Amino acid sequence: MKSIAIAGSGFAGAVLAHELAQNGDYKIEVFEERNHLGGNAHTERDPSTGILLHAYGPHIFNTSREDVWNYVQKFGRFGAYTNRVKAHTARGVFSLPINLLTINQFFGKQFNPSEAQQFVSSLGDRSIVTPQNFEEQALKFVGRELYENFFYGYTKKQWGMEPSQLPASILQRLPIRFNYDDNYYATRFQGIPIEGYTKIVEKLLAHPRIRVHGGTAFARTDVSSFHHVFYSGSLDGYFNHQLGRLNYRSLVFVRGEAEGDFQGNPVVNYCDSSVPFTRRSEHKHFAPWESHDRTVWFTEYSKLAESGDTLYYPIRLSNDKALLRSYVALAESEPKVSFIGRLGTYRYLDMHVVIGESLDLAARILTLKGQPHLWPKFSGEPLPAETKARAA
Ligand code: UDP
Repeated sequence: MKSIAIAGSGFAGAVLAHELAQNGDYKIEVFEERNHLGGNAHTERDPSTGILLHAYGPHIFNTSREDVWNYVQKFGRFGAYTNRVKAHTARGVFSLPINLLTINQFFGKQFNPSEAQQFVSSLGDRSIVTPQNFEEQALKFVGRELYENFFYGYTKKQWGMEPSQLPASILQRLPIRFNYDDNYYATRFQGIPIEGYTKIVEKLLAHPRIRVHGGTAFARTDVSSFHHVFYSGSLDGYFNHQLGRLNYRSLVFVRGEAEGDFQGNPVVNYCDSSVPFTRRSEHKHFAPWESHDRTVWFTEYSKLAESGDTLYYPIRLSNDKALLRSYVALAESEPKVSFIGRLGTYRYLDMHVVIGESLDLAARILTLKGQPHLWPKFSGEPLPAETKARAA
């Protein structure tokens, strides 16, 4: 039986490992350098309060892909959960994403949906035809007042730069609604696993053909001993940053603990520039089916990732994209290694997208099982410099 190495036990690695072990003729060795499974989706019970903590910040599972939703249900029970976020702004606390309640309360109006739509469109900057960046995108669609109160400060803190330097695509993640729907996501399915994400990953990896090496980083020098390697660590990290560092944002969480209810909602975003943090998450509210007298919250600060920091968000500005292309070229010349997941492909991916991509990748590999030289170099959409030869 051929041996495949998978570096990283986040969803990208764990789903791929499970699928290849279950449906292929492979033995899988999973290398996880941290002392826990699950990557940044890792959850653990807080020893002092028993609250289930999302160790790397809020993870709310949502997807419109029915196959992905059904797939995760096989590995854990999900509690019904709808993400409703509140925005703390200089002018008060409002409902997010911007919806009819936000608009009516913020402007002191009683609009119906079509009035609100007309009103917001009258606020938009018509001189912007094709928005070139985040700021222009926001000004064009919601105008200066909403932009400054809800987006400017949060975005500047989150990304560490002026929103005018950021791609418009980041804002497209956030809907604006002209009804009272305050569900943060527009996806079909949503929930949070009752026993947490790490239990799901443990189940994915509990397979007779999978061996997990915890606390063990995958060594590049070991590639030759495997039939193929799937790497879910950072693409630049794999190559020891030899061409320079791709930029990521990292997060710092400051813990608070008290009796009772701290903020009355799982997540409150702090949109004002005058507050140094981006948001606060109170984790017992992610599990409304549990009851706890005490509470734990984390105040979240964003920073540029430096050597040794946990990587969270790829930045993907134009200089990062140029460097990314060089790393993609390097990856193309690295035989027997494919790159997967948020860090391996340097894309801003949510859990459900990563899971979907690993399912698709596994299916592709199983169809091309005798021809590992044709296995995709990257999971998901083709990266900028991916060769035509490979696609052919
Ligand atoms: N954003 C904002 N104000 C908010 C929430 C989000 O300006 O209150 C912007 C910000 O630039 C952020 C982007 O919208 O990076 C996407 O938000 P999302 O909630 O998807 O970010 P995530 O939950 O992945 O951190």
